[in-house]
Amino acid sequence: MQIQYINEMLNIPELQINQILSISADEIQIEAVPVASKQGCPICRSDETVSLKGSNGLRTVRHLPAFEKKVVLLVPSTRMHCSQCEVGFVWMYEFVGPKRRYSHLFRERAVQQAFGSTAAHSARMQQAPVSTIQQMHNEAIPFESERLSEQAWTQAKTNNGLVLGVDDFAIKKGHTYNTGIHDLKGETMLDLFPGRKLEDLRAYAQQHPDFLLLAPKAVVMDLAQAYHKWIHECFPTAIRIADRFHVHGYVIEAVQEVRKSVQNTLSPRARALLKAHHRLLNPPSETLSAESKQKLDELLGYSAAE
Ligand SMILES: [Zn+2]
Repeated sequence: MQIQYINEMLNIPELQINQILSISADEIQIEAVPVASKQGCPICRSDETVSLKGSNGLRTVRHLPAFEKKVVLLVPSTRMHCSQCEVGFVWMYEFVGPKRRYSHLFRERAVQQAFGSTAAHSARMQQAPVSTIQQMHNEAIPFESERLSEQAWTQAKTNNGLVLGVDDFAIKKGHTYNTGIHDLKGETMLDLFPGRKLEDLRAYAQQHPDFLLLAPKAVVMDLAQAYHKWIHECFPTAIRIADRFHVHGYVIEAVQEVRKSVQNTLSPRARALLKAHHRLLNPPSETLSAESKQKLDELLGYSAAE
């Protein structure tokens, strides 16, 4: 009678609990058997030609914890044989993958926890070795990444006020450049591909019809000609916006060029001072402290053409 309730709590329909083998301070061991008495052959699917051949003993499978104790399920590893296909196989369980020592639900829980924090934290919470959780996490990453990417694209395609961001970046400064495409309002990255030249960009659009299906209201980018030309080709009605960060970068570059040419005409003392404090020219002047502002005025005084 009690076992019946535990069956319901365990909630693995293919299993039926035989007995609770042991309960220690931190672990519950439960012996269970399949509800079904036969299983179809993995090749011909029929169970009529399948016969039981004996047992490989008990399989130990970690499952979700209960009452803050580890739960270990012991299930029979039964050998079977299909006379039609002349093939032997062992009983396959739905709640755990072949040869796995952790149930699907355990893996799922551990991986979700690791995504939300770290593998080490998840390992502590699940009372499992860090290396095991790390491996589960690594195996799950490609699927999770695929899922997130699909979600991001769906969100971008259905957004009427879509604002895209297109930007280049180098993994290592000065090395080969890549282009990133972002949904700025959705705060997601949609894609990433090598290159930033017009031919790279055009090739990407050609190979990715989904990209051209987007209908951005605006696209934010730096001042690179290639990006502007490409975006104009792909989305002729989208507003192209040069982002402030890049414009500011160009302004700073130009101001510092002027500073260098002025610097060369100054007395050694003024030249040294200007050089030492050249960064004061970069930020908006209203963000400077009173002291820095005074210094800035002094520096600006060096140039007659102020
Ligand atoms: Zn068969």
